[in-house]
Amino acid sequence: MTMIAQNLKLVRARMAAACQAAGRDPASVRLLAVSKTFGVDAVREAAAAGQYAFGENYIAEGVDKILALRSSPLGGPALEWHCIGPVQSNKTRLVAEHFDWVQSVDRLKIAQRLSEQRPPHLPPMQVCLQVNIDGGANKSGLAPGDVLALAQAVAQLPRLALRGLMAIPEPAPDFVAACALHERAKALFDAINNAGVLAVPMDTLSLGMTADLEAAIHAGSTMVRVGTAIFGGR
Ligand SMILES: *Cc1c(COP(=O)(O)O)cnc(C)c1O
Repeated sequence: MTMIAQNLKLVRARMAAACQAAGRDPASVRLLAVSKTFGVDAVREAAAAGQYAFGENYIAEGVDKILALRSSPLGGPALEWHCIGPVQSNKTRLVAEHFDWVQSVDRLKIAQRLSEQRPPHLPPMQVCLQVNIDGGANKSGLAPGDVLALAQAVAQLPRLALRGLMAIPEPAPDFVAACALHERAKALFDAINNAGVLAVPMDTLSLGMTADLEAAIHAGSTMVRVGTAIFGGR
């Protein structure tokens, strides 16, 4: 087994244990492998070990990998690519043309451009809104109080499908503190769904990374984004 295959097995075991501890169905949490800074060979290795969803922070780097792997396919299911890094206006076309998901939308203008630029032959772009759940300085993401209005606006855009929320809570000193931060995101997610203003409820709460995936799953994450524990240090 390759190191990446072994690491994936360990991460899946951590996720399964966290689901069990939280009394949750293991099938209710997806794994997004964050391949930023690693090359196409690392992605190939992960795909050979059954991992098909990948996250990229840097758009140009992600598009290079998407194109490289499209021109020499892997033989398994198609890969699913998530943009999880900041999207500036001048990069929306690249994102709209190449990625399947964007988890880092935090402005209506970016959402509108993605919708306008999504090519007609592709399915709608799958979108999560990024929330700055703990008010961390220098961090992207919407203030929690602004999320409902943007969710309603994004849900109206023809070429986007609003799937949920993404957050990157600050590192916490211990499990209980980490859970408290993640639970704020879960409470916001539930409040928006329960407000009854979305025709289609959100189904994705993207929370948890290498260091805090157990706390995120405890709080209700449906997608953990894991880089270091799969591919190694950056
Ligand atoms: C890098 C990154 C991750 C993965 O972080 P690790 O600690 O390496 O697991 C997850 N989400 C986002 C938005 C990232 O930028």
